[in-house]
Amino acid sequence: MMKNIDGKAVAEKVINECRNEISVLKERGVVPGLAVVLIGDDPASKVYVGSKARKCEELGIYSLKIEMPADSTQSEVMQVVKDLNENDKVDGILVQSPPPAHIDEDAIVRAIDPAKDVDGFHPVNVAKLALEDPSGFIPCTPHGCMRLLEDAGVETSGAEAVVIGRSMIVGKPMALLLMGKSGNATVTVAHSRTKDLAAVCRRADIIVAAIGMPEFVTADMVKDGAVVIDVGINRVEDARAKRGYRLVGDVAYDEVAAKCSAITPVPGGVGPMTIAMLIKNTVIAAGRR
Ligand code: NDP
Repeated sequence: MMKNIDGKAVAEKVINECRNEISVLKERGVVPGLAVVLIGDDPASKVYVGSKARKCEELGIYSLKIEMPADSTQSEVMQVVKDLNENDKVDGILVQSPPPAHIDEDAIVRAIDPAKDVDGFHPVNVAKLALEDPSGFIPCTPHGCMRLLEDAGVETSGAEAVVIGRSMIVGKPMALLLMGKSGNATVTVAHSRTKDLAAVCRRADIIVAAIGMPEFVTADMVKDGAVVIDVGINRVEDARAKRGYRLVGDVAYDEVAAKCSAITPVPGGVGPMTIAMLIKNTVIAAGRR
């Protein structure tokens, strides 16, 4: 029986765990705080920032939304980050990606206090992930994927896992988590230079697709009974859809679902987990005050 992994339900579970931790923190007089910095007016970024702020408010997390004009200078953004580093009410800081092209995003990420880097993108936290040092922050999307696997009862230990994509926000940390002591999987990382990707994927007990190409992973690339985690969020034109487009993942859902033992849908799979893990990291940061 194919199992559809319900990311919304697991995200709600994570959020409920956070609710409990937030009330415990409140008894200590600590209100967790998250600051989100948005530079410019990219519509998709605005949507993400808005939903992060709404979730915080709903949970009683202090939420600070800082919207900066598209022509903000590097030093203006750096100053905002510096102020947030020093703001005692703020436990987590994130700068919504991508910033306008003239902004050096790496420099901004490096300016964030690693103890407030709830995205887990600062080099200190990247190193801590590689070192399996639990005092770091794990990037939200791959952390969410691990939680989905765990909740679905998927045995990662000893499994052959193939991660497609090697970005710093998804593919690479995903591979580290799977190969580490909590995953114990045998991991292959595939990317655009991989030869015979289909054959590589067919070895996998677990496939994590983080490519950014609509319905790229097809049934012929998937072994019978494999578990498939689809990180992709792609807009494809659809005249019948209200907004003129619909969202699809990196996996051709219908044909792959017919073959695998468990799969995440898009939307409603990995997407809701990312924000849940962000809240979790913010609560962890607040707990360390
Ligand atoms: P990137 O564009 O940074 O990375 C894509 C990766 O896919 C690269 O490593 C690239 O290889 C690889 N790739 C591209 N084409 C091919 C190919 N033909 N064969 C094999 N590998 C290929 O994307 P992200 O990691 O940031 O995001 C991936 C997807 O996940 C996107 O759809 C994004 O929208 C989604 N996403 C979803 C999130 C969520 O909350 N669910 C959060 C973050 C991202 P190379 O390195 O060689 O170029």
